[in-house]
Amino acid sequence: MRGDVYSVSGIKRILARHGLATSRTRGQHFLPDKGTLDRIADAAELHSDECVLEIGPGLGALTRVLSHRVRKVVAVEIDAGFMRALEQTLEDLTNVRVIHQDFLKLDLRRWSAENLDSLPAPIVANLPYSVTTPVLSALFETPEWWRVAVLLLQKEVAHRLAAGPGTPDYGSLSVYAQFAAEIDVVGLVPAGVFYPPPKVESAIVRLRPRNEPPAPVRDPRILQRVARAAFAQRRKTLLNSLGSIEEWGREGIRSALESVGIEPGVRGETLTLAEFAAVANALTPPEE
Ligand code: SAM
Repeated sequence: MRGDVYSVSGIKRILARHGLATSRTRGQHFLPDKGTLDRIADAAELHSDECVLEIGPGLGALTRVLSHRVRKVVAVEIDAGFMRALEQTLEDLTNVRVIHQDFLKLDLRRWSAENLDSLPAPIVANLPYSVTTPVLSALFETPEWWRVAVLLLQKEVAHRLAAGPGTPDYGSLSVYAQFAAEIDVVGLVPAGVFYPPPKVESAIVRLRPRNEPPAPVRDPRILQRVARAAFAQRRKTLLNSLGSIEEWGREGIRSALESVGIEPGVRGETLTLAEFAAVANALTPPEE
């Protein structure tokens, strides 16, 4: 009794059979649309001999599409009820392993070496919106074990990730993400193709970890603090927003900006990635 995961009526039947309800807090919006599932899998440019990681298989629709394209799928699902349903919906597939875990609690370096057969791995997910930021942070902090991540995200987050200087979506997330990864917004996905439909549109985003940052950074933690402070109050000048941080002070910021040739009166939102790196490096104490 596999059931049809590619139709809303099929999904409703599977949920009913297992006595399951969808949880908003776990971001359980299913994607029964085969065309969109194929677009997501296409974006990952999978190789047939790979082992792909899926985060949050739900009832297994994307898992099934992936399983036809690669040697093995390892899927991590937090919900015990869905684990029961997956045993049936994926029962005919011999190259899928589903693990009952909270992805956010995994020690990714160790876990990936123990559970994924080929590294660096592709990651594919129709991600619950509530875990987007922690999942992205976890990937950016451990870039060595994944080669590409194709994620279905909230459209606004996708645009923020990919935004460039001087645009309204450009923010500390853009700076942080673009230092860690190359980012492409592959396409938009309307809310109506999900069951139940979320309140917002989604976008397919492809991330590839960078081997080299776009500009050298001496201390990534200082870059993060600079970016966060620069965008905390977008209308403030760089001198005012960074200068209000006690440790740096107005004069410290003025001389750091002068040393790298950046006008103290500009707003943070105009700075390129290379300029953010230059400011952060100028504020990084010399190594002992
Ligand atoms: N992949 C399915 C699809 O496309 O139809 C379901 C996607 S649904 C948006 C998100 C899935 O992620 C749900 O199955 C949910 O239970 C699971 N999930 C939520 N938080 C999770 C976590 N921290 N770790 C693993 N899975 C999680």
